[in-house]
Amino acid sequence: MPIRLLPANLVNRIAAGEVVERPASVVKELVENSIDAGASRVVVELREGGKSFISVTDDGHGMGPKELALAIERHATSKLPDDDLVHIGFFGFRGEALPSIGAVGRLSIASRARGAEEAWLIRVEGGATTGPEPTALSTGTRVELRDLFYAVPARLKFLKTARSELNAVVEILERLAMAHPEVAFTLTDDGRNVLRLDSARPDLVGQPGAAQLKRLGDVMGRDFADNAVALDVEREGFRLSGFAGLPTLNRATASMQYLFVNGRPVRDRLLQGAIRGAYQDFLARDRHPLVALFIDCPPELVDVNVHPAKAEVRFQDAALVRGLLVGGIRRALDAAGHRASTTVAGQTLAAFAPMAGVAASPPPGYQSTPRSGGGHTSGVQAAMAAFAPLSPEMARPSMPVAAAEDAATNDFPLGTARAQLFGTYVVAQTKDGIVIVDQHAAHERLVLERMKAALAGQGVRRQALLIPEIVELPAKLAHALLSRAAELEELGLVIEAFGSDAVAVREVPALLGQSDVKGLARDLAEEILELGAAFRLKERLEDICGTMACHGSVRAGRQLTGPEMDALLRQMEATPHSGQCNHGRPTYVELKLSDIERLFGRR
Ligand code: ADP
Ligand code: MG
Repeated sequence: MPIRLLPANLVNRIAAGEVVERPASVVKELVENSIDAGASRVVVELREGGKSFISVTDDGHGMGPKELALAIERHATSKLPDDDLVHIGFFGFRGEALPSIGAVGRLSIASRARGAEEAWLIRVEGGATTGPEPTALSTGTRVELRDLFYAVPARLKFLKTARSELNAVVEILERLAMAHPEVAFTLTDDGRNVLRLDSARPDLVGQPGAAQLKRLGDVMGRDFADNAVALDVEREGFRLSGFAGLPTLNRATASMQYLFVNGRPVRDRLLQGAIRGAYQDFLARDRHPLVALFIDCPPELVDVNVHPAKAEVRFQDAALVRGLLVGGIRRALDAAGHRASTTVAGQTLAAFAPMAGVAASPPPGYQSTPRSGGGHTSGVQAAMAAFAPLSPEMARPSMPVAAAEDAATNDFPLGTARAQLFGTYVVAQTKDGIVIVDQHAAHERLVLERMKAALAGQGVRRQALLIPEIVELPAKLAHALLSRAAELEELGLVIEAFGSDAVAVREVPALLGQSDVKGLARDLAEEILELGAAFRLKERLEDICGTMACHGSVRAGRQLTGPEMDALLRQMEATPHSGQCNHGRPTYVELKLSDIERLFGRR
């Protein structure tokens, strides 16, 4: 068979196989073009999730008739002005999106170059071009694609339901929008509003990060905007910015992790692994943080040309980027200190809500007297009614109530301890709310953080026991413990063999205070046996510390004095990450006075 050059429309159709997979990929290419054209507003309209109709309209710089004709030619682009494949500053650069899209559907492009008197229209159908001819359009560009894949029945078969094609479009559009808060986006499907993202309000412009956080919150949810810490670090030409969610805000999957490299949404194994590493100490293995992170670097340090759909990237110095991510996120979380997420308090308050309607009539003696002119809801009244009415003796406080001026001068973030309940929870009063601390979870966290700091510095301080504690253990457990004697010594626990079924504990970590040494040795031995040999104790520091803290001085069930409780609160304030325990559960919750007032119908 003779060798021949393939006709252009066949080449385009082959290329379309790479670029155009489904409606979402068409939307991606067209919206990227709109952003590249400097648009401030982009409107996407679909029918049947894009299967029968897609249009993208923008108010960008537009095109004249000559440019229109060129735009649909293969490898025609305005975005590589000096043949430089290294300095890619735009989304586009291949010049193959429009011709490819024109090869798989009925394409029309109307455009009006900025400042021009008239608009022009060009059509491509089955490889045949008509136009440019004059048309009506007030500004910018409007691209329409009908009957995607009508000429490629094999592809048509692979399209999913309108619903799932629409979902894919939403996802792509959200990702692009997150990187461009200055652009407004709307999406409709069959005339129904699906997505509407307004551009930054004028009063947010100029506040660094505010417009971006607003947009991220619009896409990822209010929770994220309320519970994320800002990041902005630079190293050797790489800048990492964006927001990282507090560990207490977490999900069962990594789907709420958004990454951008030079403004491009990417999905990249290396970067996802780095995020996992950064949160490792704060989250259980099966929970995932929420992040929206932006890496910007000189274009020559990253290759975005790996794949036409450009979701993967290749960094020249991958280790540097990983280090920047892990270090940057950790430092931001450190700076957040003891902050726990507000979602926790929200959940606590919500727990009152189900009472609404349960108590249909108020208990005897309960007088419903709305304070604010009937402004409060029956739900709150019902919740109130569900509390047993106080008899005079019960109403008398069991704890001395602190003087009012004392509370007024209290500026500690976690407040002043007022009571201990159930031998487990410390209740403190802050300037504008109450804080409830799980003393056991908090202490575990304090031990872990101090242990980490000690290991990074001079090492863990040990305290010798006056008389070594002899702990009798089954031989198997004693052996497990002794096999890790050297590592345990680094962590502050000095043990030696004592016969075949006992160990002698000579020294314990000083920060544990009065420990239950026997219980500690037994639990550690069991833990070591269960975990097996294939790890270093330091890698499992959080487990080990949890076990140690369990047998340390502050346990659930132990009565604390006022000064002891205050000391715990002050230590938590001074300790990074003390807002969550080693498994991402909160160590304290805070209820704002305003929420309490709302609960009681005072607001
Ligand atoms: P690329 O984006 O890789 O350059 P495309 O095929 O997507 O390739 O677009 C070809 C050219 O058409 C672009 O380089 C640009 O000059 C022009 N163009 C496409 N879409 C628009 C638009 N919405 N507004 C203005 N110009 C556009
Ligand atoms: Mg393009």
